[in-house]
Amino acid sequence: APGALTLGRWTTDRAATDPSRPAIVDRGVTVSYGELEARATALAHALVEAGHGRGARIATVTGSTADQVVLLFACAKAGAMLVPLSWRLTARELAEQLRIADPSLLLVEDDHRPVAEAALDRLGDHGIRTTALGAAGAESLVPDAPAPAERAAGGAVQDDDGLLMLFTSGTTSAPKAVVLSHANCAWANLSLSRATPMTPDDVVLQVLPQHHVAGWNIQPLLAWWVGAQVVLERTFDAGRALALIERHRVTATMGVPTTFRSLIQHPDFAVRDLSSLRTAVVGGGMLDPRAVEQLARRGVPVQQGYGLTEAAPNVTIARDASDAGTVGRPYPHVDLALLVDGRVVHGAGTGELLVRGPAVFQGYFRDPEATAAATLGPWLRTGDLVERDPAGRIRIVDRVKDIVRSGGESIAPIEVELALLEHPAVADAAVAGVPSERWGEELVAWLVLAEPADERSLRDHLDGRLAGFKHPKRFLEVDQIPRTTSGKPLRRALIAAAQAERAEAR
Ligand code: ATP
Repeated sequence: APGALTLGRWTTDRAATDPSRPAIVDRGVTVSYGELEARATALAHALVEAGHGRGARIATVTGSTADQVVLLFACAKAGAMLVPLSWRLTARELAEQLRIADPSLLLVEDDHRPVAEAALDRLGDHGIRTTALGAAGAESLVPDAPAPAERAAGGAVQDDDGLLMLFTSGTTSAPKAVVLSHANCAWANLSLSRATPMTPDDVVLQVLPQHHVAGWNIQPLLAWWVGAQVVLERTFDAGRALALIERHRVTATMGVPTTFRSLIQHPDFAVRDLSSLRTAVVGGGMLDPRAVEQLARRGVPVQQGYGLTEAAPNVTIARDASDAGTVGRPYPHVDLALLVDGRVVHGAGTGELLVRGPAVFQGYFRDPEATAAATLGPWLRTGDLVERDPAGRIRIVDRVKDIVRSGGESIAPIEVELALLEHPAVADAAVAGVPSERWGEELVAWLVLAEPADERSLRDHLDGRLAGFKHPKRFLEVDQIPRTTSGKPLRRALIAAAQAERAEAR
């Protein structure tokens, strides 16, 4: 039936059966399912009345808050699309994303007003209405007269209507506007619930930002679907996250590799009670074996996953020890294939990973060219080079674009980064190819050191682990590895800096 998969129903159904159960804990304040439904319904009425109904885009610049969860469900009921933009962007980047999203309304949290205003100034003539996000903001748009029931009840919202517009991390190119429909989100959660089920007794700690797909689709939406509780963190702080796990008896959390490395490196990691955690899902990159082991020693089982925004985002998940070093096998309702020398291959092999399924997006917003470039018939091209073994397990080699060609050999930076992270002195690492006259590309490693380590000790460490041609030609010590908000090393920025440095030296 049309509209059967729309998310506006989720809170309605929960509020009918469990109105007093906690849905969200945001900075110590609890929002029940009854309140979530009432606030989302009131806001949906207000949005429709003010002309921001079905098909409208509503952008935000905010940290992760309960207000934004209310807004998501309000958008779902009104048929509007939520466009959560990163508060980390510069005014210029924000203006560009606003230009692409073309929203009718922009809701801004107080802390981020200056950058939002500067972005709007850059846009010039835009017609975007701006208001504050929060109880005194968007909900003050609620008119005295209630909206006609049929407009606000969400009856006209269709499964294929866009619900979330999310910009990709921008690791390899300018961020692209991915539109995820109600159906994409519903299927993503259906598939999650079959592979990694949740119950109403689960407590999720959400540390990844709401302007990223992981702010919604990996654990929080599933939690709100089944009636569980989500503890929201506005921004990640390792010490606070560890305290929250203990205080709220958190059972499930999800992070990128840097999230877990920060937890492990925090002094409280050894002393906090983490025994309630039954799963810690890692995405966005591979967590190194040493970190997996350190978490296991504290009783925290890690599940390594793989996904991308365009696939809403879950593609594969590792299930048990036999999957170690891989990202496991596909979630239910996800089909995989490999693109090898221009042919679609269904068995084992090495090639670009292709993904198909009802959670996979329909395209980038108003960008048929970029959509055509990212798809191949029914398949989404992930841009990731992978190996598939005969048992169907996937190992991520690296991004096709990041593979380094040096002296006639191909090298995957991820493999070298993981080997370096096993060195006790290495706190963080990034590896990339810098253009070189001699080698074509020269392999360079940027390292954050927790304690002094000379080049000799690094090379000795790599000797037993990696073939000689995979050893970096140069090691550069840095204070910090630049990363996207989803934790990926910005290899392009590192390469550009190394090139500039070399040009200066000449
Ligand atoms: P852009 O497309 O703008 O460069 P992005 O691809 O970083 O941004 P996301 O959708 O946030 O945007 O990231 C998805 C990518 O993250 C995947 O395509 C893959 O390269 C990487 N990734 C995800 N999980 C893993 C993993 N377990 N191991 C290695 N890489 C991973």
